[in-house]
Amino acid sequence: MFKKIAQFLDNNDFHNPVTDKNGSLLSTKEKIKGRILPGLAQVGLLATTLAFYATTAGGLSSLVSISSFAVALISVVVPEITYRWGYRYATKKLPRFDLNTEAGKQSFCAQYPNHGADFTNNYLTLTKELEFEKAPEIFIDKQYRGASAHISSLLPEKKRFVRIGGPLLKDTDTASKNGLLAICAHELGHLMKKDYENSFLFNTAKGINIFLGLSMVLNAGTLFCAEMAYCVANGWANDIADKKRRQYKEREADRISLMATGFAEEYNHFYKQFITEGNLKAYEPKKLSDHFTRARWGLTAPHPIVASRIVYADTFAHKNPEYCEKARAKYSHSK
Ligand SMILES: [Zn+2]
Repeated sequence: MFKKIAQFLDNNDFHNPVTDKNGSLLSTKEKIKGRILPGLAQVGLLATTLAFYATTAGGLSSLVSISSFAVALISVVVPEITYRWGYRYATKKLPRFDLNTEAGKQSFCAQYPNHGADFTNNYLTLTKELEFEKAPEIFIDKQYRGASAHISSLLPEKKRFVRIGGPLLKDTDTASKNGLLAICAHELGHLMKKDYENSFLFNTAKGINIFLGLSMVLNAGTLFCAEMAYCVANGWANDIADKKRRQYKEREADRISLMATGFAEEYNHFYKQFITEGNLKAYEPKKLSDHFTRARWGLTAPHPIVASRIVYADTFAHKNPEYCEKARAKYSHSK
């Protein structure tokens, strides 16, 4: 029975979005595990805390309760401010390119002549492919080893952008250029699926949940130990639900990238480099073969196991050779 549970938690079955009759990025099993269960868990945990709070904390009269509400409110506002800061930092300190404009394209080509028009054209093709009305701006962060997507505000139609680490632009052979585009596609996938906006909602629920729980504990009196135990268990369950949700968001973004570009091998090249160069090595589980290791990993890590992402991309390319060929043909490179 334990093996069955571990297998369910691990869930590494190959889902092919190309042949899925609804064009779904996730299989039904993945949707249950990555969206429905974590969503229900987080809403359920908040509802349970609210119910406990209403019966045990004695209303809003006490100073502790009022301050805990204030803290909960701050936990709503702080992430928004952090996003804005991120954006401000990026606009002030990092070279910034709006490739929708001629000036933006020219300035990118002048700074990165070896990528130049290949990259700007391909990036615009890619954003059209992913049905962005306007290509999100690009920031180059020389110190940063990876790539990430950001939004500057939760309000609709505000700025969204992609941050690219300088080292990713270092190699200019065709494979590296394709890999760079595949990484951009992954980040654009997060923006497309509004992953940041959704995370914000769940983080807010988590914040309110935790602080209502703490207020309850501080007001608890004789029930202190029981309520403290509830709070710890609640926080732990919330965290697992949140990580599960994020792992499946990563799977989605990976698949968006593979479908839009077909650059599976090149995408993997980037991951393999990451693993061998050490950055991710420490975070990877040592033994990948058994379901228990993988299931345990799945409960504690915000990202899927990189080695399993590599296997997925390889299998995707192997199962959809014609599809990948056609996707790849949309992008051009001069050398
Ligand atoms: Zn991602």
